Amino acid sequence: MANPANPMSVEERDEIMQTVAKEVSVCKKCPLWEGRTHAVPGDGPTTAEIMFIGEGPGYNEDKQGLPFVGNSGHLLEEFLALIGLDRSQVFIGNVVKCRPPGNRDPMPAEVETCTSNYLFRQIEAINPKVIVTLGRFSMALFFPKGKISQIHGQPKKEKGRYYLPLFHPAAILRNMSLKPQAEADFKKIPELLAQLKNTPNNTAEEDPPKLSQLSLF
Ligand code: URA
Ligand code: SF4
Repeated sequence: MANPANPMSVEERDEIMQTVAKEVSVCKKCPLWEGRTHAVPGDGPTTAEIMFIGEGPGYNEDKQGLPFVGNSGHLLEEFLALIGLDRSQVFIGNVVKCRPPGNRDPMPAEVETCTSNYLFRQIEAINPKVIVTLGRFSMALFFPKGKISQIHGQPKKEKGRYYLPLFHPAAILRNMSLKPQAEADFKKIPELLAQLKNTPNNTAEEDPPKLSQLSLF
């Protein structure tokens, strides 16, 4: 899934992503490093148009160094298949890169440290057209006052990019009655991409010069 609107070259993007992955593998910027087996920087092509952001590695992710490889990951793959995609076509990452002990919630300071050092650099490099948040910590980065029960499946557009808050797969696995709604929400992803197809870019770049400015020349 190439993202031709991305102004960074693929080489530049790859370099940033590789640098981030290298840094997180030895990072000690927050206490979560102490419990990790492997940091989980995220996985997927740097040309992806869609970026999924989960909460943090769980047991399996910590063992393998890859995001969403346990039960939640299987459900995410099932949802991706509904829209004709597989995980190799999207970027999948997390708010925090190291597993919180016993899968506890990440603390505000851990989220702040990890996202400011890593996730936001990754978003800038990939420059996705659609960011899909999975779970409340990811949602809170972009919808600070949002409640998932109220805003799930309701996209917002900012600077040419869509943000779509979805239920976390683990929440669906705990309460399967959410699944039909979760599927309907997930199926909005291709509509959002289609809506952006004809827009000239998906970046926060400056607008093209206005006629009044052009007339100066
Ligand atoms: N849950 C998450 O939030 N992230 C993962 O990578 C796996 C499970
Ligand atoms: Fe570093 Fe993030 Fe791991 Fe904390 S969670 S140690 S900030 S990589």
